[in-house]
Amino acid sequence: MKIGFIGLGIMGKPMAKNLLKAGHELFVYDMNKENVKNLAEAGAKETFSSAEAASGCPLVITMLPNSPHVKAVVCGENGVLDGAKPGTVLVDMSSIAPLASQEIEKTCAAKEVKMIDAPVSGGEPKAIDGSLAIMAGGDKSVFEAVKPVLLQMGSTAVYCGTIGAGNSTKLANQIIVGLNIAAVAEAFTLVKKTGVDPQLVFEAIRAGLAGSTVLNAKAPMMIEGNFKPGFRIDLHIKDLANALDTGHGVGAPLPLTAMVREMMETLRADGFGQDDHSALAKYYAKVSGVSIAP
Ligand code: NAD
Repeated sequence: MKIGFIGLGIMGKPMAKNLLKAGHELFVYDMNKENVKNLAEAGAKETFSSAEAASGCPLVITMLPNSPHVKAVVCGENGVLDGAKPGTVLVDMSSIAPLASQEIEKTCAAKEVKMIDAPVSGGEPKAIDGSLAIMAGGDKSVFEAVKPVLLQMGSTAVYCGTIGAGNSTKLANQIIVGLNIAAVAEAFTLVKKTGVDPQLVFEAIRAGLAGSTVLNAKAPMMIEGNFKPGFRIDLHIKDLANALDTGHGVGAPLPLTAMVREMMETLRADGFGQDDHSALAKYYAKVSGVSIAP
């Protein structure tokens, strides 16, 4: 199938490569020319605008940082809607505000382009091995039609409801992950202060109720002092800001989310915005005077 793919960063690049491996013909665009070259070397067709990537493709996928980027790429000058024919399906896999998904979908519908939101969880490793968890919103029949393609990038694709439901689900995911990482950093700083080896604590508790995917992935990074992303603090601030805006809009106070967001803002102010979100350990090092890593 001909697929337009726009946004070839940490996530988009391996996702697009998995679609190539599955036998699709890809028309790729990114404002970063190096990223486009990389995909062209892997067999994709290079294009020079979002409109060009979308023209002639029944399916267009976007994987961009945040709501304003998706609005610009889809609705802006030389955007997807300038190139896409009526009947085209747009799958936005970026993590953006649910309200923005709803606004973009309305603009798409006016041009007879069908849109679903389908953000992902799992990070770069799962994007590479094609085992992302995908959560989608929009017209169910459109979701069912594109599901086989989604499952060439992910191991699960769950329909969550009308347009924006995928991104509401993703916000829940990001709240749970962010608060879990903060809890791991807080607890491991405490044990370090009491003189207990964090590695032994990890081994002792990982099989119990405190065990989690977050603990398994992030505790070793904190213990090693390795904060190479992964998922950057800057992107997680974006998600928690979208969660807080959404929560304020619907009357759902998010006190813990607000606290973790401010901890991440502290890290960004200290110049650590590009670190992995496990760098919440550095916030605790700053306030406690002790670091989890040796
Ligand atoms: P990234 O910054 O690495 O990639 C984004 C890409 O979009 C870049 O290559 C950039 O050049 C391109 N881009 C930005 N504006 C553009 C425009 N106007 N026109 C064309 N290209 C444009 O980000 P990423 O890590 O790949 O994340 C993408 C999305 O996936 C984000 O919403 C993020 O929150 C989400 N996500 C990321 C991870 C992760 O671990 N990195 C995990 C799950 C979900």
